[in-house]
Amino acid sequence: MRPSSKLALWIRDRPSVSPWCVGLLLLFASGMAFGQSVHLDLGLPTDNDALFSDDPSRFYMYVDRNFEGVQSKPWSGGRFGFVRDQKRIGSNIIFSKFHEGLDIRPVKRDAAGVPLDEVRSVAAGKVVYINETPSLSNYGRYIVVEHQWGEGPLYSLYAHLASIKSAVGQDVGKGGVLGIMGYSGEGINRERSHVHLELALLLSDRFPEWHARHFTSPNHHGLYNGLNLVGMDVSGLYHSLKADPTMTVSRFVPLTSPYYKVLVPGTVPLDIVKRYPWLVAQGPAGAPLPVSWEITFTDFGLPTAIKPSTQSVTLPKLSWVKKSPINHTYNTLSRVSGIGETGALTESGQRYLQLLTGQF
Ligand SMILES: [Zn+2]
Repeated sequence: MRPSSKLALWIRDRPSVSPWCVGLLLLFASGMAFGQSVHLDLGLPTDNDALFSDDPSRFYMYVDRNFEGVQSKPWSGGRFGFVRDQKRIGSNIIFSKFHEGLDIRPVKRDAAGVPLDEVRSVAAGKVVYINETPSLSNYGRYIVVEHQWGEGPLYSLYAHLASIKSAVGQDVGKGGVLGIMGYSGEGINRERSHVHLELALLLSDRFPEWHARHFTSPNHHGLYNGLNLVGMDVSGLYHSLKADPTMTVSRFVPLTSPYYKVLVPGTVPLDIVKRYPWLVAQGPAGAPLPVSWEITFTDFGLPTAIKPSTQSVTLPKLSWVKKSPINHTYNTLSRVSGIGETGALTESGQRYLQLLTGQF
């Protein structure tokens, strides 16, 4: 058992320990674990290695775009980020749709154009979820693998598969075959066959309960619903690792650009800190319970840092937003409204904070 796991058990049995202490203790314990195990040996999921070439169109699958009557097939729509659904807002042209992963194109097809590429695990891990019924998800047929790199559980997700070659509970090595590339799921055809790859944090271990409270449609995927997995810029991570092989997720995530910050009451035991204690900034030794926590988010909602604050709040409240000439709703998956340097959490933003803090 890792030191952090032992500590987590110790804390669980002692309800009088304050969440602030828990954060610091887990931070300390995870630091011990870091020293032992964090080497991020991340491979690509198929034989397509053109991510590192000077021609990204060989790596990314294009999207079919129709902007103001002009049809195109830009490869850039296969990247991670706000890369889809162009809109003209006043004098600005923006991409309003967020793509949470990489769409990797096939390198082998049969005579009919059906892809033959094997899809493999990007690192050693355990298969924790398989959706065999394409119609139950936009991801189509998909697999989730859990990785333990000494930084809390991280999840790689492989979507739109044609077939599955692994089973839930199976341990896989780096490069272990998970399935065959395909075009299952929404909005894809044979020509646009690809694997959609994500590398994500898990938002809440109470996701099914949260989902039942806010949606009338059923949740078919337990914890491994895409709404409970917040992806990081996985291509950015590949490039960072190439430049610095000692890069880790806990160093990479806080480097992502912030877009907004939210204060939440300090009495709240933050669910996400239990899994990712490295999100909490180190406070002064022996610090009292904070009045509130301030959580920093990227535009797409990835939490990148959490620190104690002295501002009092009773509900999650926006404390900072990056200046924008267009409404923040376009930049934040509709979680923040307002324009310029002011804004507020929307109802959807409040629900997101409920999931992340475990307070609902
Ligand atoms: Zn995709």
